[in-house]
Amino acid sequence: TPVIGVLALQGDVREHLIALAAADAVARPVRRPEELAEVDGLVIPGGESTTISKLAVLFGMLEPLRERVRAGMPVYGTCAGLIMLADKILDPRSGQETIGGIEMIVRRNAFGRQNESFEATVEVLGVGPVEGVFIRAPWVESVGAETEVLAEHGGHIVAVRQGNALATSFHPELTGDHRMHALFVDMVRAAV
Ligand code: GLN
Repeated sequence: TPVIGVLALQGDVREHLIALAAADAVARPVRRPEELAEVDGLVIPGGESTTISKLAVLFGMLEPLRERVRAGMPVYGTCAGLIMLADKILDPRSGQETIGGIEMIVRRNAFGRQNESFEATVEVLGVGPVEGVFIRAPWVESVGAETEVLAEHGGHIVAVRQGNALATSFHPELTGDHRMHALFVDMVRAAV
């Protein structure tokens, strides 16, 4: 059984732990480099990407995270987690760092102020229709040659994969539908 961590600096950690357990993984929170070293894969939750970035620096996690992602550890980011996996943020706050790993440019809070939160059915390649919960969600402005687009909403990219890195603008951990987590658990199984 793969052991999958959830980066527990800020955000909806608990919901991911529950979804991963439902998808037959052993799930545990990860806050320190020693804990990161013990997991086969990692989820980066939704929350606030600037805060996650700052805390990752404070906890000495940014470089260890970059190293493991570079070394091919499977990683799945939702919403703020998607932002953390972007090689580039279009509109970063000053000092905002990312882990990187997916060749893409993201726009934070892209779906706008009027409609900060909404739900929509999203057709995810290889998974099928998924209920997407979007909360002040980013979208992917553009992707590199190696990045696979898995879903779009309203003409904007909202799910991508590049090698062992998976990311969605929306929050499957909030719906009780564990197919996205099951896809990620399969990626971890294939990599172990
Ligand atoms: N808007 C948040 C950010 O920029 C992401 C929101 C979320 O994760 N639900 O990090």
